[in-house]
Amino acid sequence: MIRTIFYLLLVGAVMAAVAWLASYPGEVTVVWQGWRIDASVGVLGAIVLAVALAAALLTRFWVALVTAPRRWARWRRERRLRSGYAALSAGLVAVAAGDAANARRAAKRADRLLGAPPLTLLLTAQSAQLAGDEASAQRHFLAMTKQPETEFLGLRGLLARAMRDRDWPRAIDFARRARALRPDTPWVLTTLLELQTRAADWEGAADTLAQAAAARALPPTELNRHQASVYLELSSVAARDGRAADALRYAKRAYKADPDHPATAAWFAELLLEAGRRRRATKLIEFEWTRHPHPDLAAAYRRARAPATALAWVGDAESLAAVAPAHSDSHRLLGEAALEAGLWGEARKHFTAAIHAAGDAPPAILCRKMAEVEERDSGDQAAARRWLTLAAEAHPDARWVCDACGVPHAKWRPVCARCGSFDRIVWRMLDRPLPVSGPAVASRLSAPLGEPPPLS
Ligand SMILES: [Zn+2]
Repeated sequence: MIRTIFYLLLVGAVMAAVAWLASYPGEVTVVWQGWRIDASVGVLGAIVLAVALAAALLTRFWVALVTAPRRWARWRRERRLRSGYAALSAGLVAVAAGDAANARRAAKRADRLLGAPPLTLLLTAQSAQLAGDEASAQRHFLAMTKQPETEFLGLRGLLARAMRDRDWPRAIDFARRARALRPDTPWVLTTLLELQTRAADWEGAADTLAQAAAARALPPTELNRHQASVYLELSSVAARDGRAADALRYAKRAYKADPDHPATAAWFAELLLEAGRRRRATKLIEFEWTRHPHPDLAAAYRRARAPATALAWVGDAESLAAVAPAHSDSHRLLGEAALEAGLWGEARKHFTAAIHAAGDAPPAILCRKMAEVEERDSGDQAAARRWLTLAAEAHPDARWVCDACGVPHAKWRPVCARCGSFDRIVWRMLDRPLPVSGPAVASRLSAPLGEPPPLS
């Protein structure tokens, strides 16, 4: 619009000039080197205009000629970049789709067209990894760590490789470097934690957990359980080294971090006992027995009460069981104490109650205990054998089991001895070793079992 107005104005001005010249005619004479030119003012104006136009056109042509190579190069560069980024996109899509051959081809093309910008390095490393060329992938991940934009991604690639190779010292080094770059990234913190626990670097693990708490990198319940596990191990190490005060301090922290952790209460109670705080230990065990009865708690309670005889222990066990009288573990505790003291009738009563309390699937230990009662009380070998048969098919006893690999452990530990998983050992029944067909079990359970056959 503005251009149109401008041109209209220009044409108007030229017309006005022509009209003005026509109304004021005149002549111009030029004499130069023996030449004489006579012309009207209008013709001279036209000549000057033509010369100016020709000069302008010539200048434009000259500029276009001079800048042509530069513009050609720019056009080529832009076309190259466009093709390069198209190859890069195609390569990233191929990597995501797991198409190794196309990914590799696209990576090469992108690398040739784009040089080696950060993204090309990543694509080349990933495509090499996809094609199983680990050496090349490693080289490219290493190259990525040299550039600030890709250092973190490069470290991630190197860390993953080191972990696959089970090269723990290198892995921990990469994880620490990644944490230095991005201290709040959840996967960095959880990976570092796993590596530190593998390397038994418990102080380091405690620091990492504190960082994870600040960065909210883990759900609160998981964080608390991990903290309890790390403090438990720090306590256990301190106890082994004879640093009783440190051991107790860490045990207390572990218990505070996660009172529901299956191993903290019994350990804390043990250390309270060692520190001579018997009353506190007893209170703690009685409180925990109402929440999570456990054989370790019962053992700690026995040490706290230090009964002189098996009969005295029956009395102590009764005071502990009284806090959760209906619980299967309370009956089991009383049954075992009675069995030890030779009180067969009491033992039978409590094991029977424990079996009832355990529901349809009594654990094997209770069946074995009943077999023992039968044998020692009435000498009924047939009844004892029936209980033992049931024990063989019953749920295996609860014990410390790694939830990651299913391997049982004699006692709780922070890291699985078999698979190295951190904080996966829980107190539970082992998985049933053999599949038992339903009718077979039903017929056994409904068969007469002698003295009370409570399983139905
Ligand atoms: Zn395991």
